[in-house]
Amino acid sequence: MPTGGKLIRFGGPDRETREELARFEYLARQWHDRGRSRRMLLPARLVRRGGEAVAAGRRLDVAPSPRLVALLDASARASRWRRGLAAGGAVLVVAAVPWWLTTREAGPALAVDEAPAGGGLPTIETPVEEPVPSPSRPVFAEWVEHRVIPVETLRDVAERYGVSPGLVAKWNGIDPEAPLAPGGTLRIKPNARPLPQQQVEYEVERGDTWRSLSERFGVSLSKLRAYNPDGGKTLRTGQQLVVWLDPKPHPPPSERKPIPDFSPRADALSHGSPNGGWLENGLQLPQSSLYRRRKPNLMFGSSHTIRHLMRGIALFRRDMFFDGVVVVMDISRRKGGSFPPHKSHQAGRDVDVWLPTLKGVYKQNHLGKDRKPQPNEVDWYATWGLVKGLVDTGEIKFIFIEYDLMAKIYHAAALSGVPESTLHEVIQWPRPKFAMGGILRHSDSHTRHIHVRFRCGPRDKDCRD
Ligand SMILES: [Zn+2]
Repeated sequence: MPTGGKLIRFGGPDRETREELARFEYLARQWHDRGRSRRMLLPARLVRRGGEAVAAGRRLDVAPSPRLVALLDASARASRWRRGLAAGGAVLVVAAVPWWLTTREAGPALAVDEAPAGGGLPTIETPVEEPVPSPSRPVFAEWVEHRVIPVETLRDVAERYGVSPGLVAKWNGIDPEAPLAPGGTLRIKPNARPLPQQQVEYEVERGDTWRSLSERFGVSLSKLRAYNPDGGKTLRTGQQLVVWLDPKPHPPPSERKPIPDFSPRADALSHGSPNGGWLENGLQLPQSSLYRRRKPNLMFGSSHTIRHLMRGIALFRRDMFFDGVVVVMDISRRKGGSFPPHKSHQAGRDVDVWLPTLKGVYKQNHLGKDRKPQPNEVDWYATWGLVKGLVDTGEIKFIFIEYDLMAKIYHAAALSGVPESTLHEVIQWPRPKFAMGGILRHSDSHTRHIHVRFRCGPRDKDCRD
């Protein structure tokens, strides 16, 4: 049984094992979602590592998903097949059960749907190349599909993923000199994985000009015009424009301001549970330059909640330069209690906050129209910053958001250089949808806002989580 120390090099063993497994589960999900593409099979080196992770996981009673088992198995077969070819036709594909599967007592049935029926051999269309390791993060042999946006050049695309234009042309069998067709896709094996570009719609307001909108969105004038070829020479009020935004991590502010001491009156107390509690001496979220209030008469909380809500948003703005608006919406009624359509929000400890939007998207009248941000308008880097600021108060029980959106926050955080250990502590993803773990958790229908649940404060005597 291959449990020798030389195979397993996990330092803080539990967490690292779980993280390693989570990475492989992530690859398996991507592979599965792309129709179990042969192009996304793992190279031998990663098959070995995946096998080690699975074995280590079993010792912690963590079973791999059937699709991870299938990915490892299919990859192992494919690399044996390749090795067989390299050895001059001495094909070694026996219906061998890889060694890591022999070490388990019981588990899911082997789901080997890569191998054709009748004892045939899997065919490999494209050899899986060894990835170029990036200095900061492990790179897996994984293709991405890039959707070409208007006026994008081969050079733009290549730069985006940290590869040469020549390679992109080669991978896709295209003429490096010919312009790219917007809407088409390119297959790339990246060294860098930025978040995708986001298309937003904008309704022209009185006074807007091409130039002012170019500044508003931080997009060059020529690109803005190219995105809207029928936009006309001068803009008309009410005209609809399309803008492609390329989200980037936000730098820290130039000057790190101290956090003010938010000490509102202390007698607003939370009683009972979020789904069946009430609020004593409800405290209204005060006006502040940190955020906008959506409906002040529905924004009462416990002293503890209000204090740490303000603190969390201030921490976000201290640590990340976000030149946008944070919109706070429902908290609780003045006395708490039932607050339809919410199930919770009863005890002054639940706060809904709109997802922060990309530069230029937010308009003053969005508040009045209750025009919550669309998913394509959301600034995922800023959302991560907001989550982190709130979590850093130490007073957050949970933050809820829809699972798929959580993945975007995770990637934004990872691209911002947040260490795996922090990601694991804060974000449920890539654990499964209903797994325990993390403060940021899945909850259905949270697609336009995060729902933040604060802990009971020290004075909230009969408060229950
Ligand atoms: Zn809510």
